[in-house]
Amino acid sequence: MEKMMLPAVRSYRTVIRHRRWLTAHTFQLEMARPDGFDFIPGQRIHLNVGEIGRDYSLVSSPRDQYLRLCIRHIPRGELTPKLLEIPIGESLRFFGPNGYFLFRASGKQPVFVATGTGIAPFVSMGLTGCRGFTLLHGIRKADERYYADVFQRAAEMYMTCITGPDPGGFESFPGRVTEYVAEALPVGEYDFYLCGRTEMIRDVTRIVDRRFPESRIFIELFF
Ligand SMILES: Cc1cc2nc3c(=O)[nH]c(=O)nc-3n(C[C@H](O)[C@H](O)[C@H](O)COP(=O)(O)OP(=O)(O)OC[C@H]3O[C@@H](n4cnc5c(N)ncnc54)[C@H](O)[C@@H]3O)c2cc1C
Repeated sequence: MEKMMLPAVRSYRTVIRHRRWLTAHTFQLEMARPDGFDFIPGQRIHLNVGEIGRDYSLVSSPRDQYLRLCIRHIPRGELTPKLLEIPIGESLRFFGPNGYFLFRASGKQPVFVATGTGIAPFVSMGLTGCRGFTLLHGIRKADERYYADVFQRAAEMYMTCITGPDPGGFESFPGRVTEYVAEALPVGEYDFYLCGRTEMIRDVTRIVDRRFPESRIFIELFF
């Protein structure tokens, strides 16, 4: 396997450039890319507002001029309401890049599995030339299919798994990503990349152990 040199972790200052809602509950935050900051798709930063800091996976490509994050608004959360209030142009501090959730090409078919904003590292990978993967994105409502354009270009197979009643006007699977992996994914040897909720990662890991014992699993836990 190819050895990757990880960029050094440092503290940086950035400026908020733009913020836009992707859905009723999820927004994209765009920040200036500080001089000297580099990262590998799949890595994250630790973003601070005052004393409060949280981790966010980078959605942008390392070739982009800006850094982008895809953030779920947690109305009673400590940090995300603040990220919505901060004026455009305000300066923020972050540490990074951190993490080892990197794409590692092997002979096995890659299967990316995400719930909600867990899609973030896969967007960066898709924007940076990663191809030939299967992507399963678990969402509640059809309008939460953000970054679909990236995966329509990059993925070999792109399936949105919707738990709510509206299947959307596109091909989708009615149920959880776990059900898709248990019932619809053909038997084979895969490299699974799992990102998002702990319950999903735990449940998919159990199914993989049972149905796809020769496969490998890489994980990134959000909460
Ligand atoms: C490695 C890593 C990468 C992460 N990357 C992202 C990312 O790219 N985008 C992102 O939105 N979050 C991401 N998170 C989660 C993020 O760090 C915060 O936990 C989240 O933004 C909530 O912060 P808060 O202070 O507003 O809420 P808190 O006061 O910390 O409340 C946390 C509660 O909010 C819920 N919650 C947290 N994150 C989410 C979420 N993404 N979707 C739904 N419910 C959630 C959980 O129930 C959790 O217990 C990541 C976490 C880790 C560990």
